[in-house]
Amino acid sequence: MIDYHVHPNYSLDAEGSLEEYCEVATRKGLREIAFTTHLDSDPATDDCFVIVEGRRIDVQSGYWLEHYEASVAEVADEYRERGIEVRLGVEVDIYPGVAENLPEAFHRTEFDIIIGSVHLIDHRAISAEEGANAVFSKYAVEELGHNYFSIMTDVIESSFINVLGHIDLYRRYGETHYGEAIHSLWKPHMKLLTEKMKRFNVAFEINTSPWRKGQSETMPSRPILEALIERGITQLTLGSDAHRPEDVGAGVDRCLKLVQEMGFPSPVGFKKGVPYTISVL
Ligand SMILES: [Zn+2]
Ligand SMILES: [Zn+2]
Repeated sequence: MIDYHVHPNYSLDAEGSLEEYCEVATRKGLREIAFTTHLDSDPATDDCFVIVEGRRIDVQSGYWLEHYEASVAEVADEYRERGIEVRLGVEVDIYPGVAENLPEAFHRTEFDIIIGSVHLIDHRAISAEEGANAVFSKYAVEELGHNYFSIMTDVIESSFINVLGHIDLYRRYGETHYGEAIHSLWKPHMKLLTEKMKRFNVAFEINTSPWRKGQSETMPSRPILEALIERGITQLTLGSDAHRPEDVGAGVDRCLKLVQEMGFPSPVGFKKGVPYTISVL
């Protein structure tokens, strides 16, 4: 079992140190985990900071990235001996202009995996109910789809992303506002998105966090997974999006069965940005 989407306590919304995650992951028998702390850099929001040893640090400061890289390397060395590979990753919040706003130190950090995820529309987080309601009340469902997917398709061209995170995050609060229409919002955008994914060699993740929130579908949902496989996009990672140690690896086995049944090849892992097949048996 692997988990390629894990949030340690470098973000305010996550609890658990690198060591605590590694302990739980080792106990659960995981073979690989990737720490993918949030990197939020939209200057129009007030979230552009990280937490290092209890202190708030500006996301633009090189200090935290050096601290993060060195600390992940340290636990990776320690836990390799205990049978688990630990990867250095990041979940970059993507929005128009993100490539120009990344911290300078980002470009010299040797990440194994960079996930690019849309959380913000018009600088509001649709991953939270309040932000979602504010955004959804401004847009018809087609406009929301256009705004959301054009962020992804445009940012892919900046070429710093290995994996697209939770492709249909808009569903989390979308159904309450838009009803059933939210579930087909992706359809007009899949052609361009998959063309760009192919051209820029970008994989996608299957995020199991909705299962812990009582929802029946992973992100992306099964119809999107079917569309991806039909269009030949099969390079995928699996991640729990754990924000606390006890959730590491949650749902990944079940998810693996799902993708195998659907005919996807084995998931990939990443080392220094290079994908490789995970032999899952
Ligand atoms: Zn996310
Ligand atoms: Zn996440």
